[in-house]
Amino acid sequence: MSLAIETKNIAKTNSQNGTIVSAASQKYGILARPKLEYTDEIARITAPLYQKVKSVIPAAEWPIYAPLIYAINKLKAERGAVILAHNYMTPEIFHCVADFTGDSLQLAIEAANCGANIIIQGGVHFMAETSKILAPHKTILIPDAKAGCSLAASITVDDIAKLRAKHPGVPVVTYVNTSAAVKAVTDICCTSSNVLQVIESFGTDEVICIPDEHLANNVAKQTKVKIITFKGYCEVHDQFTAKEINDFRQQDPELTVIAHPECPPSVVDVADFSGSTKAMIDFVKINRPKKVMMVTECSMSDNVAAEVDDVEFIRPCNLCPHMKRITLDGILNSLLYLKDEVHVDPKISILAKGAVERIIALNKAQPQQISRNN
Ligand code: SF4
Repeated sequence: MSLAIETKNIAKTNSQNGTIVSAASQKYGILARPKLEYTDEIARITAPLYQKVKSVIPAAEWPIYAPLIYAINKLKAERGAVILAHNYMTPEIFHCVADFTGDSLQLAIEAANCGANIIIQGGVHFMAETSKILAPHKTILIPDAKAGCSLAASITVDDIAKLRAKHPGVPVVTYVNTSAAVKAVTDICCTSSNVLQVIESFGTDEVICIPDEHLANNVAKQTKVKIITFKGYCEVHDQFTAKEINDFRQQDPELTVIAHPECPPSVVDVADFSGSTKAMIDFVKINRPKKVMMVTECSMSDNVAAEVDDVEFIRPCNLCPHMKRITLDGILNSLLYLKDEVHVDPKISILAKGAVERIIALNKAQPQQISRNN
């Protein structure tokens, strides 16, 4: 087969393959889909990437991934595009095609700061919106616009209006896992790594912390500020139970358990450590526990396991069906057809940007805190 990838601008209108013509595709042109075959040459070129993921991707699966990875990396360079990958992306995305990895706020900051004008968001829709809010003049693409989030979908602008009417004058702290419209009517955003700092930054007796009830109740245990909560949940972290964790511990007393604060407080209470995705990753890389259970989305354990070969990972993890909508094939289509382009109403974007920039400023002013259990 030919390794050459056809980069000719094949159409600016609806093509035979049914792709939707976006403003971005009209601006940059769409490209022909390359042949995807696992040849000796593709095997040789992608061999260093396979070395990075060989502990988590079986050799039998590599011939499926390798041609896509090769095509994506070639097209990405030709487009001058950048791929962002959230910590919950699968290893073949996270380790083999991403330019930047991290949590949603880190990725949005990279979207704004990097030199590329075309950004492909490996993550769910609110993450792509956050990137667009911080980089409004760039083309932000999501490989599957249906990649939503149960937490972001749990709360609306009307819900915030009702909370404000019920608790007049009480500041509203909104987790980044929300829509741009919700961010626009909040006082400040927060992440799981700085929620405590943000809540205490107001100097008030009460703060409304939305939408994740578990995150709010977990942080309430660390502060004297009264936290007003909302009944929103991450469908992945809400499923974990303390019984499940205790059963694993009984089977293996040497197990170190680290939990994301979107888990129910009863789960965080029986963990050895709780923190944001970044804090959990740092914990494993620094402490090198003999055996660890990362109580969060499955792919994060795989991504860390690929980097630390002296730690055994026990995986009672849950998959996020929304994150799993992002695939190598979808990323390739985004690069070829410049879809799906993410837009945020400019009036909403300006207001939401204020809420996001306030946490960025707070992060710069104060080092981030990591929560710990004993
Ligand atoms: S893991 Fe939870 S918070 Fe993250 S995208 Fe999936 S549903 Fe939303």
